[in-house]
Amino acid sequence: MSTVFGQIIEGKLPCKKVFENERILAFHDIAPQAPVHVLIVPKKLIPNLAGASDEDEAVLGECLTVARKIAQQLGIQNSYRVITNSGKESGQLVYHIHFHLLGGRPLGALG
Ligand code: 5GP
Repeated sequence: MSTVFGQIIEGKLPCKKVFENERILAFHDIAPQAPVHVLIVPKKLIPNLAGASDEDEAVLGECLTVARKIAQQLGIQNSYRVITNSGKESGQLVYHIHFHLLGGRPLGALG
């Protein structure tokens, strides 16, 4: 079943796009938790890290490379955080794997 991110990838819902290639779409979070809050999303529907398989290794690694380049592009290359939630108790809301890129303010310790 398609999630909200699946609908964004399919062009059925709008987003503020930051980056796109054949495998990955990145866009600004609708409810930013920091001055920079970008979501980096593989186009393939992988529900979360627990639901990924070994064959997803390349695209998941590429997401981190994309995060590094977006951090540079948006001027937060000196300090930023990249996280992915996996599962209900982690706070995951959208079951299409994504990496949050956060920066532009001091980020507290992870709780
Ligand atoms: P999660 O809790 O699953 O790790 O993060 C989901 C993120 O998706 C949240 O930060 C939430 O604000 C963001 N989000 C949910 N719906 C939309 C949407 O329709 N558009 C955008 N750009 N972000 C969304």
